Amino acid sequence: MNILGMNACSAENPAAALVTPRLRREYRTMECMVEIWCADHHVSAARDAEICVECRTFLDYAARRLEKCPYGEAKPTCAKCPIHCYKRAQREQAREIMRYAGPRMTLRHPWLSLMHLVDKLRKAEHPMEARRRKSQPRQ
Ligand code: SF4
Ligand SMILES: [Zn+2]
Repeated sequence: MNILGMNACSAENPAAALVTPRLRREYRTMECMVEIWCADHHVSAARDAEICVECRTFLDYAARRLEKCPYGEAKPTCAKCPIHCYKRAQREQAREIMRYAGPRMTLRHPWLSLMHLVDKLRKAEHPMEARRRKSQPRQ
């Protein structure tokens, strides 16, 4: 079941822990991209499931990163994030999936695609930088 029909506990389904609309939409976008990628690259591995085990593992990893994302509702796109919380291998995997599925999202999921463009305009400050700025005395 996808995130829009969440009914599992977060231990079984990491995406179930994503409580804000922004994070849920981000997960849904990632889920759609992974489905496009998997359908075109791992068709034999997926068999009867919607996506293969490798892609499910990646999606669960992405959900756990989202759950811990410090930006919450103000989340930028991960590509523009100054933290880059993904491990190197998963970051590379995300890049590869997005490079392939991104252009294909426009036709298949126009609303998510449009909102992703809006998210790209959002600027994110590193939390350490924000803390430093707030602790500086005003002049
Ligand atoms: S890379 Fe940045 S925006 Fe993406 S989940 Fe990690 S902390 Fe959040
Ligand atoms: Zn796959």
